[in-house]
Amino acid sequence: MDSIFVTQPFLPPLEEFTPYLQEIWENKWLTNNGKFHQELEKALCNYLGVKYISLFANGTLALITALQTLKITGEVITTPFSFVASTHSLWWNGIKPVFVDIEKESFNLNPDKIEAAITPHTTAILPVHVYGNPCKHDQIQKIADTYGLKVIYDAAHAFGVKQNGISIAGYGDLSVLSFHATKVFNTFEGGAIVCHDEKTKKRIDDLKNFGFHDETTVVAPGINAKMNEIQAAFGLLQLKYVDEAIARRKKIAERYRELLKEIKGINTFDEIENVTHNYSYFPILIDNIKYGRTRNDVFEKLKTENIYSRKYFYPLISNFSPYKSLESAMPDNLPVAEKIAAQVLCLPIYPVLEFSVLEKICNIIKTFKV
Ligand SMILES: *Cc1c(COP(=O)(O)O)cnc(C)c1O
Repeated sequence: MDSIFVTQPFLPPLEEFTPYLQEIWENKWLTNNGKFHQELEKALCNYLGVKYISLFANGTLALITALQTLKITGEVITTPFSFVASTHSLWWNGIKPVFVDIEKESFNLNPDKIEAAITPHTTAILPVHVYGNPCKHDQIQKIADTYGLKVIYDAAHAFGVKQNGISIAGYGDLSVLSFHATKVFNTFEGGAIVCHDEKTKKRIDDLKNFGFHDETTVVAPGINAKMNEIQAAFGLLQLKYVDEAIARRKKIAERYRELLKEIKGINTFDEIENVTHNYSYFPILIDNIKYGRTRNDVFEKLKTENIYSRKYFYPLISNFSPYKSLESAMPDNLPVAEKIAAQVLCLPIYPVLEFSVLEKICNIIKTFKV
């Protein structure tokens, strides 16, 4: 069998992309808010049901710029259970990350633990909708309002996710998306910030273009984080396929659940009430007592069969060397995150994953049990 990776980037038919390239070659407008860039911003506002969106070269630059936009300083409360870029974006802004533990049900930042971590230096909360599971945003917003904090969501996993029919990409003061190759919707590399008013959108657009407000005015020490025309054109084409891709992911997730639920010690996420999901990841938890083997055992076993699952998110961000000496990074402060990180494994999920491969994966997990 060919190697099976945790994901395979979704690509539309190549011949459908060439007309876009021809147009770019004719126009000779390669970046700086070109035609496709403007079209993709509009199309995404429409698709996601949000008012303002600003495209970026990638999600990490979008996160860094989101923090600059709101002039966040001091300390920011965040989760250790995420991709490193969530916390790195704080570090690149000279902000001290303060880690707060996660909920054992959603693996998201636990709102009940936030207040105890607030100090006079706290200015914002940076939660992550891990695997696309919505954070408890009402509760988080209430805390933010009480203490005068900003909320910036890392919504890198949450493309297309809706709660009660509303896009979760609209939560918080700002929400940041990633269109990296491995995400549900990709533009090779790419990202975006969702905001709620025109003035903020303009500020973000200035910041991502060196701080240029117009030809001769620089209003801030901006950066170059612009999405180019090839990425934007590709995004427009991808958008035509994204619903189909998500529907296919859903079928895969359902089949996984069906086959794995009978295996003792293997736990999966159920569908969440009132949530239209994007099935961006398929995490399982391996209870080594009930299953008889550890997560690492399963990871290695699958590898011997050419199946490359991923331990998202192990190690925790708080255990990486730039952060591990912070007081809030101590394992005692993050017991749930530490436990989940030791048990979690993300299985392959992507639109063209064949059921026969999925069944083989489940069968390996089933027969490997002791
Ligand atoms: C992918 C990802 C990012 C970074 O996005 P890039 O587009 O790869 O820079 C940030 N946060 C999380 C949670 C991610 O999964």
